[in-house]
Amino acid sequence: MGDVARVLTHRPTVEQLSRDFYWYSPVLRKQLDGKVGDLVVQPMNATEIQGVLRYCHAEEVPVTARGSGTGNYGQAVPLHGGVILDLARMDRIEEITADGVAICEPGVRLGTLENEARKAGWELRCYPSTIIKASLGGFLGGGSGGIGSVAHGNLRDFQTVRAIEAVTMEADPRVVLHQGEEVHDILHAWGTNGIATRIWLALAPAVEWSQCAVAFDSFDAAFDFSEHIASGKNWTKRLVTTFEWPIPSFLTPVAQYAPKGNALIFFLIASSQCADLETAARSVGGEVTYSGTYLGLRARPLLSDYTWNHTTLWAIRSDEAYTYLQCAFDPLKVREQMSRLKERFGSEILFHMEFWKNAEGVVIPGAIPVVYYSTEERLNEMIAFCREIGVFVANPHVNNVEGGGRYRADNVQLLAKQRYDPKGLLNPGKMITFKKDAVAR
Ligand code: FAD
Repeated sequence: MGDVARVLTHRPTVEQLSRDFYWYSPVLRKQLDGKVGDLVVQPMNATEIQGVLRYCHAEEVPVTARGSGTGNYGQAVPLHGGVILDLARMDRIEEITADGVAICEPGVRLGTLENEARKAGWELRCYPSTIIKASLGGFLGGGSGGIGSVAHGNLRDFQTVRAIEAVTMEADPRVVLHQGEEVHDILHAWGTNGIATRIWLALAPAVEWSQCAVAFDSFDAAFDFSEHIASGKNWTKRLVTTFEWPIPSFLTPVAQYAPKGNALIFFLIASSQCADLETAARSVGGEVTYSGTYLGLRARPLLSDYTWNHTTLWAIRSDEAYTYLQCAFDPLKVREQMSRLKERFGSEILFHMEFWKNAEGVVIPGAIPVVYYSTEERLNEMIAFCREIGVFVANPHVNNVEGGGRYRADNVQLLAKQRYDPKGLLNPGKMITFKKDAVAR
């Protein structure tokens, strides 16, 4: 490594850099509490990563990549000790090209990238609500989408990730470039089959945004209106989030935007359409409780801070028994599916809806419902019931790539692991279909 100051052995620091937000799940909390790496290494470039991986391959030492440690499924928690590869120092934005592609190192924070992109007339197509802290490499390794996905789909869609350069875990680690469809070998593989060292990320033209909050007497009316805006082709939007009461009461700094008992919608809408949105909301019984130009990530209030998985965080702050699920409803049956869930589980499930565009360009009513946790059996019963009635669940209570709902039937991630990490030393235990002695293809 050259500089020993970038090898950290101070136990509290190693413990801190071995954790993420797995504790959102009472199931994962039991499994992952106390899992710690042996030391942390902070490389500055791909050559140093090659050196670390060469050594670890020879000595059979596990290596777990870490961005900012904001993942929710224990993706960055080392199950078998070893080296934590902290990529925070590799945070250069090398270029934002004239046609809107950012070329970056993995440790760049998404908030920094968004700010720099906007200076050049571009913005992120989609980002997690953890934008300020989360890294680009961690978003690629463990995230899926978020704000912006209603218009641009998730990270894996529409060639948003143009290329990934990754270092392999072999006797002589290689730097391999993945372009086009090949990015899916590495994308969302939790750092199990290569360490991303450079990323080409497609951006969207920047838009002047406004934030708007609208309250409705009933959740049904709020959902109808939010769905209308989310799927309406003429609305330019970045965020459409709908909360069932009492979720708005959990969002304490912005709880005043929902009168007691009301459902609430948060929008990021093109400023040029904000007045039209307000008129449309009032015409169907909505009350506009907040409206203002979006002044970037330092805006107060910053409504996105209460959406996507931040909603779960506010719910847990209100009562530690809350946890969550990640669901996608069928756009044609969503009302029936929601009512069957309510019938069966009552206030054990509270609807928090997020919309995103799927790979076919259809806007899907997704949800990160807040769930009142009693036992693992009851949680599994809810997941099974969702699946029985046709609601897709990406289970956030499992600690492996396949179980989280991102299993790829074409096995490209597994095949890449067999090629690039034949000893199974990268984040071991997280890709359960991998068998050490399997033949690489
Ligand atoms: P980390 O947690 O550090 O890492 C994530 C995974 O990527 C790990 O498996 C790690 O090993 C791997 N990894 C990291 N760097 C590399 C690399 N260079 N090469 C290969 N693998 C690597 N997620 C969403 O998708 N959308 C949301 O809206 C969202 N909201 C959230 C809200 C809250 C409050 C919290 C706690 C989490 C949320 N998440 C969300 C999850 C998480 O914040 C995001 O996925 C985030 O992008 C992860 O980035 P990170 O830098 O913290 O990654």
